[in-house]
Amino acid sequence: MNINDKLSAKAKSMKSSIIRELLVYVNEPGMISFGGGAPDPETFPRHKLSEIAGSVISDEYKSTLQYGLTEGDTELKKHYIKLLEKYDGITGINNDNLLITTGSQEALYLTGLIFGDEDSYCAASAPTYLGAVSAFSLSGAKFFGLPMTDEGMDLDMLERELENLVKKNEIHKFKFAYIVPNYMNPTGQSESMENRKKLVELAEKYDFMIIEDDPYNALRFEGEKLPSVYTMAPDRTLLLNTFSKVLSPGLRIGVIVGNKEAIRKMVIGKQALLLCSPSITQRLAARFMEKYDLIHEIRDTVKLYKAKRDTMLRALEEMFGDMEDVEWTHPKGGLFLWLKFPKNLITSEMLETAKNEKVLYIPGDSFYFDNPERNTMRLCFSLPSHEDIYEGIRRLRKVVDLHLAKIKGAKKNDLHQCV
Ligand SMILES: *Cc1c(COP(=O)(O)O)cnc(C)c1O
Repeated sequence: MNINDKLSAKAKSMKSSIIRELLVYVNEPGMISFGGGAPDPETFPRHKLSEIAGSVISDEYKSTLQYGLTEGDTELKKHYIKLLEKYDGITGINNDNLLITTGSQEALYLTGLIFGDEDSYCAASAPTYLGAVSAFSLSGAKFFGLPMTDEGMDLDMLERELENLVKKNEIHKFKFAYIVPNYMNPTGQSESMENRKKLVELAEKYDFMIIEDDPYNALRFEGEKLPSVYTMAPDRTLLLNTFSKVLSPGLRIGVIVGNKEAIRKMVIGKQALLLCSPSITQRLAARFMEKYDLIHEIRDTVKLYKAKRDTMLRALEEMFGDMEDVEWTHPKGGLFLWLKFPKNLITSEMLETAKNEKVLYIPGDSFYFDNPERNTMRLCFSLPSHEDIYEGIRRLRKVVDLHLAKIKGAKKNDLHQCV
């Protein structure tokens, strides 16, 4: 039978993510991958977690092997509230302001679900997080893509778009701005203090929500820690956090902090989607936090990623320093940096050559709602070893040279045909 005839318009519009497709090649022998944005598995506290896991299952089985509350494990919430107070200066939070999700991905999906209609407008940086693009796209809302500047998203452009909506009498259809404030995925850039304040001013003036997705806050290599937008506008910000980058993505635990009524709607949405998040991993994380200081535990991880970033920056300088019209970001934390090539170099078209030369990256065009800058790529420095980072960047330069020669050759042929 032809399934296609039966598919919904939404299902028909769904596309597989290139990251998922590239994962097939990651395990080829000799491949060096800067592709997937995953933590280094050696940073997972596996011995500490496995020690706790035994008693979480054998002693706490009545809750951990059972269905849990849709809102999330109360034990986990208790320890999470303490963490927010201690490290982020966020106080006055109670259970009604918190929803535990199955990773931030569920939070993004629920955000699209409760705010987005086919005729809604939202805004995000361009480029922005791929997981947000796929989750929000399902809502059908239209996104304004705001280019990244050194300060963060171009908020002057946002203001112009908002004014346009006012003129068209459609400002009430503008629902939220989505930001990844620190060391964002994919570029590694951050929102400056100035930009954070300006965004809050705009949100108050034009009456919209802010979705603050902040997985990399604790992975800070240098520079000062800036206050979250949530602390500046708690009522109109939903703060999304995750254990994926600071403990383990396999636990699949995220947290939404914010406005009670929004949380309430999301709980109802979550009931339809999942009933509840896995009870075992929530309690495991809770007991881990009870016994250890999560932020203290990742100090070595932060050092490791900083050293790997340094290796990648040095390798880029050495291999690409002489090349014109190539630039890259210098992230102060996180897992990624962003490379921009001359306009004629379309990175998705270079991928075949890269596969042959045994190096992988994510073409930048995946990270846009529309109008992608196709001469860009994301490189992840957290996963490969120092040696592989160096060797991988060396290969990347070779790939670029081979590809540029190929484009030149093709152009010459065209020219001959014309003559
Ligand atoms: C990695 C990442 C997440 C984490 O997603 P999970 O579903 O919690 O694993 C969320 N947002 C951004 C911007 C990320 O880079």
